Amino acid sequence: MSSLLFYTLFYLLMSGCIVYPPTEFVSAGLTVKDVFANWLGSENELFVQYHIRRSVTTLLLHSVLPLGYVLGLLIFDHIDAEKLLLVDGNYLGPLIILCVTIAPLYTLNKVFEWSAHDWATHPIAQNLSVYSNNNTPWTAVASDINTEYRRIDKIVIITNSVSRVVATDNWIIKITPYKLQVAHQSDATLVINKSDIHFMSPTTRDQIQFINIQVKPMRVMAQEFDIRLNALDFKDLQDKVSRPIAIPHNITFHRTLLDRFIDTFKEEVDKNPFYDTAEELGQCIGCMQALSNVKLNRLCSRAESRDLDDCMTCYCRPMWCIECIAKWFASRQDENAPETWLSSKCTCPLCRARFCVLDVCLVKNSN
Ligand SMILES: [Zn+2]
Ligand SMILES: [Zn+2]
Ligand SMILES: [Zn+2]
Repeated sequence: MSSLLFYTLFYLLMSGCIVYPPTEFVSAGLTVKDVFANWLGSENELFVQYHIRRSVTTLLLHSVLPLGYVLGLLIFDHIDAEKLLLVDGNYLGPLIILCVTIAPLYTLNKVFEWSAHDWATHPIAQNLSVYSNNNTPWTAVASDINTEYRRIDKIVIITNSVSRVVATDNWIIKITPYKLQVAHQSDATLVINKSDIHFMSPTTRDQIQFINIQVKPMRVMAQEFDIRLNALDFKDLQDKVSRPIAIPHNITFHRTLLDRFIDTFKEEVDKNPFYDTAEELGQCIGCMQALSNVKLNRLCSRAESRDLDDCMTCYCRPMWCIECIAKWFASRQDENAPETWLSSKCTCPLCRARFCVLDVCLVKNSN
C-alpha cells in the first residue's frame, strides 16, 4: 500500500507542476510553450493562432493526466490497484477506467472538430468574432491583433506562471492556460474592484499589493474578465490603456516604504532655509526630468567643530531634484533599520561630502 500511496502522491505532485508550473519548471523549460515550441510556431508572428494552438495543446495534455495515472498503476503492477479496479463485481473500477479514457478521447474529438472548421468554432476565434464588423471573418480581427502585438511598444505583464496581460495600442488581452480573453479599449470600461495586501517573506520587508481590475467590454456578446496584477505594474498598464481606469474611493494604493520616506524627507527639507542663487538651474542629473532644485548647504553644525563624522561642506552646484536626493539618501541607509534613516548621514553623490537632512536646502532662484 505504501508504494501505491507514494506513486499517487508523486503523480499528484507532477500533475500539479504541469498544470501550474513552479519557477523551477519554468526556468528548466518544462512548460507547454517550451516543450511544444516547434509545433506552436512563433508567438510574435501569429499571436492569435499561436495561442489557439497553445490552448489546445494544454487542454489535451491536461485531459490525459487522469488516464496516465491509471495506466501507470496498471503498468507498475500494483496488485492493490488491480484488485481495486478490475476485480469482478466491482463497478467503480471499470467506471473510473471508462471516465479517464473518455476524457482525452472527447477532447481529441473536439480538437479535430475545431481544426476541421479552420479553428473558427474554437472559443478563442468565437471571442474574436464578436469584434468583427460587417460579417468579416474572425481572422480579420486576429490579424489586427497580430499586427499590434508585433509592435515593440506593447506592454506584457506576467501576472503569474500561467497567465499574462498584454496591452497593445487598441486591445487588452488576458492570456490564461485555456483561454485568450480580449477587449477593445475603445468600448471597454475598466474598474478596480478589489485590492489586497500581502506580507512577503522576511527578506523583503515591504508588502506587496495586488489589484483586481474588471474589464467590461460594451459590445454585445463580448465577455467581461478580471485581471489581477501587482500594484507596481498598474502604472504601466494605466499608461498604455487609452481609457481611464476607474479607482473607487475605498481603494487606496499602498505606498512603499521608499514612497513614505521620500514624503517625510521632503517635509523635513521644507523646514530648512532656502538657498539663494543667481545661477541658472539645469536638469536634475538623476532623473533627467525635473529641474534641479536642491543644494547641499552645511547648516547643522558649526564649521569649527572637527568631529570625525561631522557634516562637510559640499561645493557642488545644485544638480539634483529633491526626489532624487531623497532616493539617493534612502539607498545609502541600513535597509534593516528604516527608523534610523532620517537621523543618519549620507554623502554627496558627486564630491562625497557628508551631509544630513538639515543640510538639504531647496534652491530659490533670484532671477
Ligand atoms: Zn531628479
Ligand atoms: Zn557635493
Ligand atoms: Zn549635517
